Amino acid sequence: VGQENESIGAIGEFGLIDRIQRIVGPSEVGAGIGDDAAVIDSGGPEVLLATVDMLVEDVHFRPDMPALELGRRCIAVNVSDVAAMGGTPRYALVSLALRRETSTTWVEELYRGMMAEALASTMDIVGGNLTRTAGPLCIDVILLGSVPRGEVVLRSGGRVGDLLAVTGTLGDAAALRAAREQGLDLTGIAEPGWIDQAARVHPRVREGRALATARLAHAMLDLSDGLAGDLEHLCWASGVGAEIEAHHVPISPEVRAIADLLDLDPLTLALAGGEDYELLVALGAGGVARAAQETPPVHLHVLGRLVPRDEGICLVDRAGKRHPIETGAWRHF
Ligand SMILES: [Mg+2]
Repeated sequence: VGQENESIGAIGEFGLIDRIQRIVGPSEVGAGIGDDAAVIDSGGPEVLLATVDMLVEDVHFRPDMPALELGRRCIAVNVSDVAAMGGTPRYALVSLALRRETSTTWVEELYRGMMAEALASTMDIVGGNLTRTAGPLCIDVILLGSVPRGEVVLRSGGRVGDLLAVTGTLGDAAALRAAREQGLDLTGIAEPGWIDQAARVHPRVREGRALATARLAHAMLDLSDGLAGDLEHLCWASGVGAEIEAHHVPISPEVRAIADLLDLDPLTLALAGGEDYELLVALGAGGVARAAQETPPVHLHVLGRLVPRDEGICLVDRAGKRHPIETGAWRHF
């Protein structure tokens, strides 16, 4: 089939991935494009996980973002993808595109942040590349992880009847972002602990490993774009639909308070705000109780279930009325 020459903006991120996939073809060593990380099976007792994520100035971070915080984030978002496969992060490679006038202090602070996050996940930064740019700064991180053969969790393993659960509350990052944009004083609304939790990416490596080792997760991904958009990816990969119970979506009191003050809908923040970096898990009926018995326990919030594909992806309100979910997900183009 001949393909038209369209702009990337017109076909979108997933249209572009589809075209690339047609050129690259299927992988001969494991799962290829389209999951949180590529799975490379070279025959050993463990399979290799590989993921890459580029952050671009003015697109993903503002020039005034503290370099230390930015460094932490660059590593953490990649670690989160490895966690979503049930894996352990091992090694990172970092490429930077820098301007001539970029200060050495900025680069050192960036690396201090990356190392802090790497040490927190007991992994190493083992190499990289520096290049010059006249445009925006770019930070590209390749992360390698591993997982015992047979424990890798894909997006495609969800089955009709599975429960859908998440590892924490949703909408916190989006609410904090909205509060900061509007100059809202959070004194008396949110404790410093909540602000730190909401401002930083806390990859759920322990939870992902525990769910994978206990063989509880049928399908899993990390919520980067927001539940509404990311759920669509899991459903598409698993060939199923989903129902989310609106009143079971876990939302923190801080998100409700901020939403109230800014006249926002807390459920919209939770469904479409993005950058939660919690795990979304499809698992069997007994899985939630078994996860809570792990040492230390993995606490899951059940918010829905998988249904046949032809039922679509719906939000169910308190009255039992079904509303198709609009995927207000962050589109890259
Ligand atoms: Mg991901």
